Amino acid sequence: MTIEVACVPVLSDNYVWLVHDTASGDTVVIDPAVAEPVLEAAQARGWRISQIWNTHWHRDHTGGNAEIKAATGCIISGPKGETGKIDTIDRAIGEGDTVKIGAYRANVWDVPAHTAGHIAYHISASDMIFVGDTLFAMGCGRLFEGTAEQMFTNMQRFAALDGATQVYCAHEYTLSNGRFAQAVEPNNAAIAQRMEEVQALRDAGKPTVPTTIALERATNPFMRATSADELARLRTAKDSF
Ligand code: ZN
Ligand code: FE
Repeated sequence: MTIEVACVPVLSDNYVWLVHDTASGDTVVIDPAVAEPVLEAAQARGWRISQIWNTHWHRDHTGGNAEIKAATGCIISGPKGETGKIDTIDRAIGEGDTVKIGAYRANVWDVPAHTAGHIAYHISASDMIFVGDTLFAMGCGRLFEGTAEQMFTNMQRFAALDGATQVYCAHEYTLSNGRFAQAVEPNNAAIAQRMEEVQALRDAGKPTVPTTIALERATNPFMRATSADELARLRTAKDSF
């Protein structure tokens, strides 16, 4: 039993994740910003899309919902706090709910802050979590509809996961986040080393995600913040960095 994940880069810096269970053939699209490249990527692998899982209502995470559903008949799960903003949701879910891909179960977490109803999907048996725009490599999402307190709670919760957990974020923001992280922690050797690796990946046109919880614990100033106040100061500074 294995889950395979494929990255579909779309728009300027979005990543759509195709998640495929080899045993059942079940294939989930996480946050389809658009439809066509996602349908093509699935077809190229011989994967039949059976579900969409949305993390939040922003168009760059839901814009492909209707077209992918029309093409595949897939079932769309999304945050119950945002059904008014995502009119394509079949199954509204939140904290404590589970969704399945094949025999794997994803636990749904409420992670409000970037948007009020933002959710994440944790597949613990496969050590992976899909975090949308909440946690980024060396960064966190902007606080559009929530507070620093909420984001601090989210970061602490992510940090408590197994260090090996693969973190699938929805954007390639790593270089810009890393420059800020270096400015905040100029003596952090783990950040300096990571920046060299990240630069090399980007120079080669490769994604820098997924990341891992262990790597974020060592290099992400927002996860390393020891209070909501500290996270608030960091977030404000990053907004104008
Ligand atoms: Zn967003
Ligand atoms: Fe986004």
